[in-house]
Amino acid sequence: MVGWAEIESLIRQYSVVQPHMEVDPFEALIRTILSQNTNDLNSYRAFESLKGRVGMTPAALASADVGTIAESIRMGGLYNLKAARIKLVSEELLVRYPRGLAFLEELGDEEVRRALSGLKGVGPKTVDIVLAFSLGRDVIPVDTHVNRVSKRMGYANPKAGYRAVKEALEAAVPPGKRLLAHFALITHGRRTCKALRPLCGSCPVRSTCSYYRLSKGRGVGGRA
Ligand code: SF4
Repeated sequence: MVGWAEIESLIRQYSVVQPHMEVDPFEALIRTILSQNTNDLNSYRAFESLKGRVGMTPAALASADVGTIAESIRMGGLYNLKAARIKLVSEELLVRYPRGLAFLEELGDEEVRRALSGLKGVGPKTVDIVLAFSLGRDVIPVDTHVNRVSKRMGYANPKAGYRAVKEALEAAVPPGKRLLAHFALITHGRRTCKALRPLCGSCPVRSTCSYYRLSKGRGVGGRA
């Protein structure tokens, strides 16, 4: 059964250090929308372009023409869809919280979830990103890499939904180490446990990995 030891091994393997995150909550929301279905570089470029051309406040984005937003984030892919979401979430936030999101600091985790619930395009992953990266809370956001890697390693059932994966990981990771675990799993997913062809032959946790055990049993694929 996998636990903290495997994640600790990944932390050592990739020399992951506890990051100090203080991303503005609104920026975290916009970054997460921009990160959907694209790579980190294009997502970063789209964010910087949008910030430079339109601005990075709810007021600036709510009053901007949706076509201008789309044009600014074109390099990030799905730009029409993302532009509409960005404008909508900015408009909603401006109405709901005209004084901004600084008040989130004062709220507990569940209160933050309630405060951001119902915003178009803001799901549980986005809220967890705000909790972890903006408010320094001890949660594990489950992105595409964390989801794939944790299921392959055996922390969660392959069919588990967002909440089940997150709870399984958080149960395995000691308090205070969850953001570290998040980055270790992402790094492992990018460098070794790749989506299409995981490099199991050079993986430090293959001895306990469910996917590796099954692929060995089938005698096919799964290894570099
Ligand atoms: S053994 Fe393969 S599938 Fe399992 S965690 Fe390592 S790279 Fe991923």
